[in-house]
Amino acid sequence: MKLLESTWEEVDAYLKKSDILIIPVGAIEQHGPMAPIGTDVIAAEEVAERIGKKLSILVAPTITTGYVDPDFLRFKGTLCIRLETFCNLLEDFLVSYSKQGFKKFVIVNTHETQRDPIKRISERVCINNGVKILAFEYWNLLKEEFKSFIKSELIHACEDEISILLETRPELVKKDRIVDEMPLEAKLDYFIYPLPEGYATKSGVMGIPSLATREKGKMILDLVMEKAAVLIKKEFDA
Ligand SMILES: [Zn+2]
Repeated sequence: MKLLESTWEEVDAYLKKSDILIIPVGAIEQHGPMAPIGTDVIAAEEVAERIGKKLSILVAPTITTGYVDPDFLRFKGTLCIRLETFCNLLEDFLVSYSKQGFKKFVIVNTHETQRDPIKRISERVCINNGVKILAFEYWNLLKEEFKSFIKSELIHACEDEISILLETRPELVKKDRIVDEMPLEAKLDYFIYPLPEGYATKSGVMGIPSLATREKGKMILDLVMEKAAVLIKKEFDA
C-alpha cells in the first residue's frame, strides 16, 4: 500500500491498525553511461515496496532529492541539494507523520553518503518526538550474504546496483554502454577536498558493473526483503 495512492480516510484507517511507515530515501545522481540518474530512487522504492507488501506496511512518498557528493556535479543531470536541506527535509517528513500517529519509521536508504545524516536526524527526531526509527542500507544488511555471490568491491554504479536494475527495470540498462572503472584510491584514510586526481573516475562508474546479472538482482531483493522483515518484526513487534 502506497501513501501516494491512498486517500486520507484510508491512511486514517491504516493508522487504527498500525503505526509503522516505510520511507524510501534515494538520490538523484549519475550512475555511469549505462544506468539512469534515478537508479538509487528505483532501488529504494523497490526494496520499500517489497517489504511493505510482505508485512502490509504503508510506504511513504520517496525522498528522491538526497544528499550527493558535489563532485558528481561534473556529470549532467546530477542534483546536489545542500546537506542542511536534506536533513531538514527528512526531519520534516518524520515530524509531520509522527504528529498524525506514525510512531515507528523504517528508512530504506540507498545512498551511502546519507547514512550518517540519517542517523543524526533520526536521533534528534526520536528524542524530541518519542518515535522509533529503524534505518538501513541493503548492502550493509547483506554483508554476510554478499560474500557468496557478489564478486567485486561495491562503490558506485557497480555489480549490485546494476543487478537490481536488471531485475526491476531492465529496459533502462544500456548494456552496450557498461564500463568497468575503479578509482585509483578507492578509500582514503583522511579528508581532502577537492578530491585528488585518480579518486574520481571519468565514466562515473566506480566498480565492476559487467559482473551484474538479473539473477543477482533478484537474490539481493529477495534477501533484503526477508532480512528486513525479520528485523522489523523483532524491533517493532510488527
Ligand atoms: Zn547508487
